[in-house]
Amino acid sequence: MTATKDVLGRIVGRSHVECGVRIGDVAVPGVAATLVRPADAQQVAAVVAWCYEHDVAIVPVGGRSGLAGGAAVVDTGAEAIALSLQRLRSVRSFEPELWRMEAEAGVTTATIARLARESGLLFPPDPGASEQSQLGGTIATNAGGPHAFKYGVTGDWVTGLEAVLAPGELVRVGGAARKDVAGYDLRALLTGSEGTLGIITAAWLRFVPAPERRLALVAAYPDGAAGCAAVLRVLASGVVPAALEFFDEGAIRAAGAAYPDGGLAGFVVVAEADGSHEEAARGRDELREALAPRSTALHAPESAREIWRWRDGVPIAVTAARGAKLSEDIAVPVDRLEEAIAETVRIGARHDLEACSWGHAGDGNLHASFLLDPGDEAQRARADAAAAELFDLALRLGGTVSGEHGIGVLKGGQLSRQWAPAAVAAHRAIKRALDPKGLLNPGKKLP
Ligand SMILES: Cc1cc2nc3c(=O)[nH]c(=O)nc-3n(C[C@H](O)[C@H](O)[C@H](O)COP(=O)(O)OP(=O)(O)OC[C@H]3O[C@@H](n4cnc5c(N)ncnc54)[C@H](O)[C@@H]3O)c2cc1C
Repeated sequence: MTATKDVLGRIVGRSHVECGVRIGDVAVPGVAATLVRPADAQQVAAVVAWCYEHDVAIVPVGGRSGLAGGAAVVDTGAEAIALSLQRLRSVRSFEPELWRMEAEAGVTTATIARLARESGLLFPPDPGASEQSQLGGTIATNAGGPHAFKYGVTGDWVTGLEAVLAPGELVRVGGAARKDVAGYDLRALLTGSEGTLGIITAAWLRFVPAPERRLALVAAYPDGAAGCAAVLRVLASGVVPAALEFFDEGAIRAAGAAYPDGGLAGFVVVAEADGSHEEAARGRDELREALAPRSTALHAPESAREIWRWRDGVPIAVTAARGAKLSEDIAVPVDRLEEAIAETVRIGARHDLEACSWGHAGDGNLHASFLLDPGDEAQRARADAAAAELFDLALRLGGTVSGEHGIGVLKGGQLSRQWAPAAVAAHRAIKRALDPKGLLNPGKKLP
C-alpha cells in the first residue's frame, strides 16, 4: 500500500493520497481504502493507467449521495483505490446565449442548476441531494428527480462526455454539437454505467430557457384508488405537468404534519404547471379540473418552492417515524401504479413490517419503503426478504427493479432477474470490451 501511495502521490501530489479512509455512500458504509484525488483529466488518465497496469481496482467517487452503494468500496479480495473527482471543479465554458456549458465532473449538480438559473436557463435534472452530488456521479447514475416527468433524466441533457477508458485513455464522445449519430452511442452507454465502464471527467450540457413561472397544486384523496385515478386523468387530459408526484397514506402519516399550509391527510398528489405566466396559469386550471373529482382537499399554494422544500423532507420524515427504513426505487408502467402502491403495503404486512411509498407518479416510480427500528437485525432480514418480493412485483407488473438509483452493490444480481440471459450476456460482453481486466468498480451493476 505504501508503494501504491508513493507512486500515485507522484502523479497527483502526496497530500492528495490518503490511506485507510472509509469510503461509502448514503446507503453503504464501505470499507477503508486509499483515496486518490487527481487535479485534472490527465491525472485521472495517469492514475487509471497505473492501476490498470498493476491490477489495482478503481472505485470512482463523486459526492457519495448515491443510494445503491455504487461509490462504496467493498471487499472483493483485490487491492482497490477510491478515485475522487472532487478537485475537477472547473466550468470550462458557459455560453448562456447558446444554452450550453462544458463542466468538469466534480462540479456539484446544484452549482450547474444555479449557474443556469442566473442566466435565465434551466438545467432540469433535480435529484434530491443536489448540493452534495456531483455532475459525474449524477451522469453515472443517470439520475432523475421530480421534474424528469416533463424534462427527462440527466442523460437527456448531456450532449457529450470526456472520459478515461481502460487502460488509461482520455477520450471524448460527442461535444457541443446537439446531434451526433455517427458512431455507436458511447455517450449513452457511459451514462448510467455507475462507473463500471469508464471515469467521466467532464461533460457538455445543454439547457433550455427557464420557465417564467411555476405553479403547484396539492390534492388529497381518501385512498390510493382515487389518487391514482386522478393521476391517470391528468395524463388523459393532455396537459403536461412539469412534475406529478404522489404520497400514500403511510408517507403522509409521517410527513403530513410538516406540510406548510397546516396538515395533510389521506393519499396526496402534487402537480406542477410551468411555462410563461399565462401557460402556467392555464396549465394549473387544467390540472385542477383533472385532479378535482373525488378529492377531499385541493390547495393551490402561493409558492411552489415551499411545496418542494416539504417534498424534499418526506424521506427524512419517513425515516424519523421509527429511526430507520429500507427504501427501494422500483418503477412500473403508470397504469399499474395503484397496484404497486397497494401491494407494497401488503408485502410489508406479510413480513410484519410497516410499509409506505411516495414518488414520481407520472413516471410510475415508487420509493417503496419498509420502516425499521435501528439495530433490529431480525426486522432488517425481514425487510430484505420484503424487498426481494418488491422486485418480483415490479417485474410482474412490467417494470424495473431500479427507476433511478441504479443497481450499485445493494441490488447486485437483480439485473439477471429483469433481463433475458442474452441481454445479460450482452452486458457482460460490453463490460469485457471496455474493461477487460474487470478493474472498474468491480462488484457493481452487473450480476
Ligand atoms: C436525499 C437524497 C435524495 C435523492 N434524490 C434522488 C432523486 O430524486 N433521483 C435520483 O435519481 N437520485 C436521487 N438521489 C441519489 C443521488 O443523489 C444521485 O444518484 C446522485 O446524483 C449521485 O451523484 P454523486 O455525485 O453523489 O454520486 P456517487 O454517490 O458518488 O456515485 C454514484 C455512482 O456513480 C459512480 N461515479 C461517481 N462519479 C463518477 C465519475 N466521475 N465517473 C464515473 N462514475 C462515477 C460511482 O462509482 C457510483 O457508482 C438522492 C440521494 C439522496 C441522498
